[in-house]
Amino acid sequence: MEKILIIDDSAVQAAHLKSILEEDYQITVVQEPEKGLEYASEQDFSLILLDVVMPGMDGFVLLKKLQEEVATRHIPVILITSLSDIENEQRGLTLGAVDYIYKPFHPLIVKARVNTHIKLYQYRKQVEYQSMTDQLTGIANRRRYERTSEQKWQEAIRLKVPFSICMMDIDHFKKFNDTFGHPAGDTVISSVASTAGSYLRRNTDFLARYGGEEFVAFMMGDEAKPAFEQMCRVRRAVEELHIPHCGSVSEWVTISIGGITVRPKRGDSFSTYLKIADAMLYDAKRFGRNQVVWNNENMRQFKE
Ligand code: GH3
Ligand code: MG
Ligand code: MG
Repeated sequence: MEKILIIDDSAVQAAHLKSILEEDYQITVVQEPEKGLEYASEQDFSLILLDVVMPGMDGFVLLKKLQEEVATRHIPVILITSLSDIENEQRGLTLGAVDYIYKPFHPLIVKARVNTHIKLYQYRKQVEYQSMTDQLTGIANRRRYERTSEQKWQEAIRLKVPFSICMMDIDHFKKFNDTFGHPAGDTVISSVASTAGSYLRRNTDFLARYGGEEFVAFMMGDEAKPAFEQMCRVRRAVEELHIPHCGSVSEWVTISIGGITVRPKRGDSFSTYLKIADAMLYDAKRFGRNQVVWNNENMRQFKE
C-alpha cells in the first residue's frame, strides 16, 4: 500500500482527509511542520498533503525546504488551502507543488486527485528504475553505479566502517566472442552477473555492470581479509559454472578480480581508491588471470 503523509496543524481537518483516503492508502498524520520535514526524509512516502496555513512554519516555507532536501525533493506535494486567490496558487506551483486542493473539499475530488498523483509517481519511479538497470543482466547499470558510489562512500565515512571496492572482468572474453559468437557471450555476461549477485546479497552490498564484460561491486562493514575471501568465492563460483571456453586459452570461462578495503575518512576521494581496485585487477590479469588480488589500506597485497 502506498504511503501518504498529511501535514496539517488542524487535527479535525487531518482526520477528515485521513478518513477519505485510509481505505486505499497508508496514512501518517503530523501536526507540526518540523516533524513533517523529519518524517518525510526518513520514511518512504509517495505523496504529501500539506496545509498552507500553519503556525510557525507555513506550508510554503515547508514546501521550499522539502524541495531543497535531496531526500524529499522527489515526493510530490499537494497543497491544501482555503486561500483561493490566484497569487497564492501560482506561488505554490512555482515552488514545486504538483496540485492544489481547496477547502472545503469534496471527498471524491480529493480521492481522484490523490489517485492521479500516486499513479504518476509510481510511473515515474518505474521509469527511473528501468533507466538505472542494465537490460542484459538485470543488475544496476553504470548510471546507478555513478549515483550510488558517492552515496555509499559518504555513508561509510559517516559510519566509520570499512568499505570495499571491487572490479571484476571476464578473462579472454574477446576470444570467447570470436569463438562462440556475441549472443553466447551475452549469456556468459548474464551468468557471471547472477553468480556474483548471489554472493552479494546483503543490503549494504552493491553490484553493477560497469561496462562490457566488467563489473564493479561494493561491500560495507567487512575488513580486507573477509572481503577478499568473499570475492574468492565469487571467482571460484564462476569457474565452477563450467562454461566451456575455447581450449586454447582456458578450459572454462573465468574472471579476474581486483579490490581494496579501506576505512574512508572525511576528505578521502572515492576515485583514488577505485583506481587502486582497478590496478589490482590489472595485477590479477598480469599474474595469470582467474584470481583475486586485493589491497588493504596499508597497501598490503592479498593474493590467492
Ligand atoms: P582480458 O582477459 O585481458 O580481460 O581479455 P579480454 O579479451 O576479456 O579483454 P578485452 O577488453 O580485449 O575484450 C573485451 C571483450 O568483451 C571485447 C568485446 O567484444 C566484449 N564485449 C564487451 N561488451 C560485450 C557485450 O555486451 N556482449 C558481448 N557478447 N561481448 C561484449
Ligand atoms: Mg576481459
Ligand atoms: Mg575488459
